[in-house]
Amino acid sequence: GTAEIGVTGLAVMGRNLARNFARNGFTVAIHNRSFAKTQSLLDDHGDEGTFVASESVEDFVASLARPRKVVVMVKAGAATDAVIDELVPLLDEGDIVVDAGNAHFPDTVRREAALRAKGLHFVGTGVSGGEEGALLGPSIMPGGTAESYEWLGPILEKISAKVDGVPCCTYVGPGGAGHFVKMVHNGIEYADMQLIAEAYDLLKQGLGASAAEIGQIFAEWNTGDLESFLIEITADVLQHVDAATGAAFVDVVLDQAEQKGTGRWTVQNALDLGVPITGIAEATFARALSGSVPQRTAALGTLPAHTTPWAVEDRDAFVEDVRLALYASKVVAYSQGFDQIAAASEQFGWDIDRGAMARIWRGGCIIRARFLNRITEAYERNADLPLLLADEYFTGAVGNGVQAWRRVVSGAALHGVPTPAFASSLAYYDGVRAERLPAALIQAQRDFFGAHTYRRTDREGTFHTTWSTDRTEQDA
Ligand code: NDP
Repeated sequence: GTAEIGVTGLAVMGRNLARNFARNGFTVAIHNRSFAKTQSLLDDHGDEGTFVASESVEDFVASLARPRKVVVMVKAGAATDAVIDELVPLLDEGDIVVDAGNAHFPDTVRREAALRAKGLHFVGTGVSGGEEGALLGPSIMPGGTAESYEWLGPILEKISAKVDGVPCCTYVGPGGAGHFVKMVHNGIEYADMQLIAEAYDLLKQGLGASAAEIGQIFAEWNTGDLESFLIEITADVLQHVDAATGAAFVDVVLDQAEQKGTGRWTVQNALDLGVPITGIAEATFARALSGSVPQRTAALGTLPAHTTPWAVEDRDAFVEDVRLALYASKVVAYSQGFDQIAAASEQFGWDIDRGAMARIWRGGCIIRARFLNRITEAYERNADLPLLLADEYFTGAVGNGVQAWRRVVSGAALHGVPTPAFASSLAYYDGVRAERLPAALIQAQRDFFGAHTYRRTDREGTFHTTWSTDRTEQDA
């Protein structure tokens, strides 16, 4: 065969990825379980490059140059396993199977090990940017063997988004590292979206501003430190008018947020690793609360609020406070997400370069933002930075906003505006910087009821106090 890369699974994502390869000059083998999608790609876009279409998997595999590089872009889960099982007997040693779907990373770990045992390379890769990113340049996060990246890297880097000429694609690490990083990316996306939604609500409740007015505030914010894809589309969405009613579009959308599960995976993994990612967790739970219809119905008009309406006097000062609080909370959410990447990298031996992850998220993906440069720079200053928040740039940037952050969170509490992500991020900030935490009391309680032992501030060792008898201290 002659095709330099193949794509099987030609729904929206696979179709656009195949077109992206072709538009960049690669000869692309294409295949889909049902031929209709393959035919439609040829009919609509066959002139964009060189496609080699096959109806059968056998012909598809035969059309590829060795080592074969097959991108699988089908429904995540059982469909991916089914396609891999079909491909494997047709492949030869050294061939590379790339799963570009949204796999859960433990599945990727399993598949990578199984294919490695057969002499094949399996590359679980995160692809972010949705339909448009797949066509015009996504952010790409490939895992698997370093050797497979020698073959794939030049192709994937070519079709990825570019920022200042630098590709938004790099080798992430072995095993499930690529899909893991994509998962955390999505978790951070949840936090970012929730923080923006809380900022919108604060401006709405505090100022009584209309959606369009708030949209203008976001558009203004998008010219500064907060510049990002999500802020930009928020400004756009808030200024959109519903054609049917003439009302602000956001005001006619049902307020129940849905999810496909990557936020939940991120939080579940963080619980396993013991990493506090409170921003992402609160964002995930906030979606769940919004969809808790029986509970919301039972509470509406029933739970006393004992608040007064919020009438902010200095509009400009309040807008600036919310902006600073949003930025600070966002830094916390990213700092926590990078802690999670560090913990998993350590646990699984993936050796992930966190600065490089921030670099490949600058373009193509949903969380693309100016501020990611600052994260890359922080890890360039210190690759082993134990806390992103403690980098000199961020201590300055967040430090400038701390008083504003406290005013916003306390104002929201006084006036009954729910800000779970703003408030929990501030609580994390105060917790992580505290000289002494009430965890000492937790340890004493644990020793009291369960003889779980404790350590002391003044000398080494592990101790237990005989609480139920004479309360003497023993070495444990
Ligand atoms: P879908 O997830 O809707 O999957 C449809 C494709 O899977 C079709 O090509 C379908 O073939 C194929 N398929 C389903 N079951 C099987 C099977 N048992 N055997 C062979 N092929 C099968 O497509 P998308 O393009 O939306 O997404 C593809 C992947 O990319 C998913 O893993 C998704 O999570 C991920 N992703 C999606 C993003 C998005 O914005 N949509 C963004 C980033 C990642 P057929 O036509 O024959 O039914």
